[in-house]
Amino acid sequence: MAEKQMRLDKFLSEAVNLTRKEAKVVLNKGKVSVNGELCKSGDRKVTTEDEILLDGKRLGGIEEFLYLMLHKPAGVVSATEDNKDKTVLDLVREQEAECESSLEEVEELWKFSIGKKELFPVGRLDKDTEGLLILTNDGELAHQLLSPKRHVDKIYFAKLSGIVPDDAIERFENGIQVGKEYRAMPAKLEVLSSKEEEKSSEVQITLREGKFHQVKRMCHEIGCEVTYLKRLSMGSLKLDKNLPLGKCRKLTMEEVQKLKEDIK
Ligand code: URA
Repeated sequence: MAEKQMRLDKFLSEAVNLTRKEAKVVLNKGKVSVNGELCKSGDRKVTTEDEILLDGKRLGGIEEFLYLMLHKPAGVVSATEDNKDKTVLDLVREQEAECESSLEEVEELWKFSIGKKELFPVGRLDKDTEGLLILTNDGELAHQLLSPKRHVDKIYFAKLSGIVPDDAIERFENGIQVGKEYRAMPAKLEVLSSKEEEKSSEVQITLREGKFHQVKRMCHEIGCEVTYLKRLSMGSLKLDKNLPLGKCRKLTMEEVQKLKEDIK
């Protein structure tokens, strides 16, 4: 079957989420080549078979799925829309808008290309929780990553008010009863430090599930309250230490591949 043809400016706007006007600027600046030849004309017909380079980098056609890692700050909600609070999607859109307003940095435009992709967060972090949040439009991967049957570990760092009792590690290992509602799956509790005089502790907790307020509720069961919570990883994906709070970046192909292996 013949490859569908498309105008080059339309292709650029879909592949890297430029407006037609922005695509024209990029073309006029001589940043685009088609099959090795510089091309300044937006009405040139191309197909995804053509080798289209933007600033020397190949555009791989129109990607169906987008995977982002967000370093979620406290104060934003893990939702796509909210009529009161700022959402994680607002943060992504703001960052993309910043990139778009600096056309000089065409590089930056590679970061997202949200376009019409309907991104959503993979699971929820509470409004006051920081850390790793994956955003994607790949419903299947999201579903599998969250399924307790897939055993994808989520690791959290928490500061607690209270000293962790001696039997807590074992209670976590055996599956702690949370209120009257449920018994948690076995989880790992590591005490990183405790300060007797301040009655505070720092812990790392590894969970397989992602129930509402789960870390906070499990800690409450051992007589401690969470005063700070941060998710450090989900499966093989670790929060990038170079990613500033409130910012996101695209996952690399290897990171996506490893996540897919995590759920096999
Ligand atoms: N457990 C919690 O209590 N809160 C979160 O945000 C994540 C896990």
